[in-house]
Amino acid sequence: MPVSVLDPERYRGDFAILSVSSPRGKPLVYLDNAATTQRPRAVIQAIVDTYEHHYANVHRGIHWLSDRTTDLYEQARDAVQRLIGAERREEVIFTRGTTESINLVARSWGEAFLRPGDEILLTEMEHHANIVPWHQAAARTGAKVRFIPITDEGVLDLSSLDQLLSARTKMVAVTAVSNVLGTVNPLESIITKAKSVGATVLVDAAQSVPHLPLDVSRLGADFVAFSGHKMLGPTGVGVLWGRAELLDSMPPFLGGGSMIRRVTLEGFEPAELPSKFEAGTPPIVPAIGLDAAIEYLDAIGLPAIHQHELALTRHAHERFAELGGVRLLGPAPEQKSGVVSFVVEGVHPHDVAQLLDGEGIAIRAGHHCAMPLHKRLGIVASSRASFYLYNTFADVDHLVDAVAQTQRRLRRK
Ligand code: PLP
Repeated sequence: MPVSVLDPERYRGDFAILSVSSPRGKPLVYLDNAATTQRPRAVIQAIVDTYEHHYANVHRGIHWLSDRTTDLYEQARDAVQRLIGAERREEVIFTRGTTESINLVARSWGEAFLRPGDEILLTEMEHHANIVPWHQAAARTGAKVRFIPITDEGVLDLSSLDQLLSARTKMVAVTAVSNVLGTVNPLESIITKAKSVGATVLVDAAQSVPHLPLDVSRLGADFVAFSGHKMLGPTGVGVLWGRAELLDSMPPFLGGGSMIRRVTLEGFEPAELPSKFEAGTPPIVPAIGLDAAIEYLDAIGLPAIHQHELALTRHAHERFAELGGVRLLGPAPEQKSGVVSFVVEGVHPHDVAQLLDGEGIAIRAGHHCAMPLHKRLGIVASSRASFYLYNTFADVDHLVDAVAQTQRRLRRK
């Protein structure tokens, strides 16, 4: 058996769901972590405790219970600030998730800064959440969307970057880690080049903050977006980190309660950061749950989690290579995180996922919200296994053995 710096058996007991069986009595092998992760008991308990003991609306009560909830909600902001190394706590905006965070920037920053003829530079490996809002922003403003291509190996082709970047480039929005290829992108060199033409940079960190250390004070980007549910936290909470001076110069995204300083019959005056971008009742309990998730991840350490996922990815690559008849998408494990997408020759990815489901193995099949990427790869769909800290080498073996069984079954037919 290969070895890892992290022993997942130490943590699996914290995740009750990992002990459930499928309707056919097979133990769950959960390999769909890029879609959403599971929650440890500590996170579930934080949610229960809040509803049972500390729950009221935030920032608007003059009673002790609201003060207590407000403290917990704001402590969650502090936890995010520490996690990503933000200089100022008001730069951390709670949203519903990565999708909303990117939409906030595309709408609000786009309205303030995009003009006809400007260019928005994305990559061919983006999730739809980092494509569609920019198409919408382009349609509203007359700007144009362009793409950094990928190579056949599934890494960004940066040889074209100098040509693509110009004084017209106002936004470079790039994923830190591809949710299909697993590719870890060289953010620093992309950001340095983007900055040399004066572009603003957004990093889609949905697949990186949960798995790899990320320090916004050193990164050089202007916006970073991620989701709580992909890092052991609840659904319904995400984060937009942005540079305070940029956030200050942008109009509010949503209007309503909490985001105003004053409202008159003639108009309104927006509140200070972060309230300006947190209209209405925010995701109070999900944010408090996210705080517990961050504490849990902190205790293990993101570097160890990344190394563990890398070991699982390496093992999957080796086992699939031995098996044969499987096309692995993306580069060698050294350039990847814990995402292994593949196509079994002659078998539709949905059939693979369905046959694996019969064995209790949960993977994802389809375009994974990355249709342009699949088109570039010459396929319409793929199967994807994605790992987290609680996955084991045995999980990977189950996966590959089940794929082998699928090949044998379909060959017999
Ligand atoms: N960006 C990437 C790279 C993703 O993998 C995902 C989710 O799969 C998203 C954005 C969207 O995240 P959410 O659905 O949590 O808003």
